[in-house]
Amino acid sequence: MKKLQVAIDGPAGSGKSTVARQLAQILGYLYLDTGAMYRAITLKALRCGVPLDDEEALSRLAQGARIELKSRPDGGQAVFLDGEEVTSALRAPAVNAAVSRVAQVPGVRRQLTRRQQALGAAGGVVMDGRDIGTVVLPAADVKVFLTASLGERVKRRLKELGERGFQLTPEAVRQEVLRRDREDEQRALAPLRPAPDAHIIDTSDLTPAEVVARIIALVRQRQGGAGR
Ligand code: C5P
Repeated sequence: MKKLQVAIDGPAGSGKSTVARQLAQILGYLYLDTGAMYRAITLKALRCGVPLDDEEALSRLAQGARIELKSRPDGGQAVFLDGEEVTSALRAPAVNAAVSRVAQVPGVRRQLTRRQQALGAAGGVVMDGRDIGTVVLPAADVKVFLTASLGERVKRRLKELGERGFQLTPEAVRQEVLRRDREDEQRALAPLRPAPDAHIIDTSDLTPAEVVARIIALVRQRQGGAGR
């Protein structure tokens, strides 16, 4: 069966990574969490003390960073930065607070977009992010844009942070989600928005399994159709 490119975009807490991971596992495809790549560059910048408004230094740092994504047996993804595993460190509040600013830097986006395109070129990939259907894989076979109510997205982010040992108030998480959405939607380069041909799915009242089932139906439809 034809190996497709599946693009999954959406705002923070819309359920992208859970859905993309399960989908990749069912299809036997590679799962690529592009947010983790932006987070890895951000972690490196914070550790090196690079000012977040120094675009040249951030671009250089992105060029020199070695980011490896390794699939885990549970379908998850372990992230290594310059040889060190940083999977949990990437979810720290300090990274959440800084990542959208780093992701606005053209030189950083250029580097990461190029790497993501190389990883997705052969197909058989589920990629999740903000600009996959619009910029990284504009010819993707299946494009999905996930949304959810603010309340639901805050609830999911709180749960994820709690599981990783970070205790934040709902209000703090609400502010972080709103700020990150605003920064991602309003940036000049590759802003967060659905591709014109994306299927928009509101996940507020759906379980991850229900969302996955809907996307699988789109994938099967595409495989059964004329293809690209
Ligand atoms: O998906 P996640 O919440 O881990 O993404 C972290 C941040 O990385 C986003 O808020 C956004 O600023 C940036 N990002 C991006 N383009 C992508 C994926 C993530 O700009 N394709």
